[in-house]
Amino acid sequence: MNQLSNEYLNKVIEDSKPYAVNGRVNTELPNFDETLRDKLGVSIITSEQNHYTAGDSSHKVPMQSTSKIIALMLALQDFGKERVFQAVGMEPTGEMFNSISALESHDDIKPFNPMVNAGAIAVCSLIKGGNNDNRFERYLHFLRDLTNNPTLEMDEKVYQAEIANGARNRSLAYFMQSTGALITDVEEALDLYFRINAVMMCCDDFARAGLFLARGGIAPGGDEKLIPPHHLRTVKAIMMTSGMYNSSGQYAVEAGFPCKSGVSGSIIGAVPGRMGIGVVGPAIDKKGNSTAGGALIKKLSKDLKLNMFRTE
Ligand code: GLN
Repeated sequence: MNQLSNEYLNKVIEDSKPYAVNGRVNTELPNFDETLRDKLGVSIITSEQNHYTAGDSSHKVPMQSTSKIIALMLALQDFGKERVFQAVGMEPTGEMFNSISALESHDDIKPFNPMVNAGAIAVCSLIKGGNNDNRFERYLHFLRDLTNNPTLEMDEKVYQAEIANGARNRSLAYFMQSTGALITDVEEALDLYFRINAVMMCCDDFARAGLFLARGGIAPGGDEKLIPPHHLRTVKAIMMTSGMYNSSGQYAVEAGFPCKSGVSGSIIGAVPGRMGIGVVGPAIDKKGNSTAGGALIKKLSKDLKLNMFRTE
């Protein structure tokens, strides 16, 4: 078995980098261009708090869809599991993350799960706070606490880009307004969704978020539980079945631990009881997952025996 070390991670980065040629950089995001194709970073923090990094591990990118798991944790805290899953389903879609047809085809006409855009917008309407400044403040506070990083901030340019490129998300949200799925004003739910997508993090932050999930809701460096374990169980199960969009089945087989990706090329991995993994590799495949980052996650799983379903 390979030993976890910075040298080992350097080697994994070199082996995974070539996969970036198969992807495309999401140039809708500010400052995202072809020069980012070769960037690849990884950070791992173990439950013993040992920290390993390699590659471009301090390069910051917007959270994009990795924010969906943080929003889900808050909504579960605020309204409980029963209420949250009245608004969104628990099933994988098999469709793209921003699919319009998937939204209408669910039996109860609700988003299939909290990891697709429609589901996350519905989840955003279930975050308490009275107004969006307070709701976002609570989100950011929770994120800073669970990553133990008080410097995390939203990037104004990314937020403006989300608004400017948000036609598809608006159509999903307005459809949900028509079915009564949103309990706040539709523009407020959308605005909160745009803001949470725009918070900047690096591999170390993504790894700390993964460790938080892997360690039963205790922030790195702390010993207080910030969220009850039964909510974490729900979040990790949803990550496993839907976190990598319509590649989630493949990741369940090849990685075998809960992961969540974003179109910035970010991935949060949570290996229960063992470690949090943060990856950034901006070239993404057609489904929205980092090509080099995905290869890296699968290689780590194989080498370090991280697959929860492994038989040997
Ligand atoms: N901002 C993107 C969107 O709303 C996030 C999607 C993603 O990361 N898959 O479409």
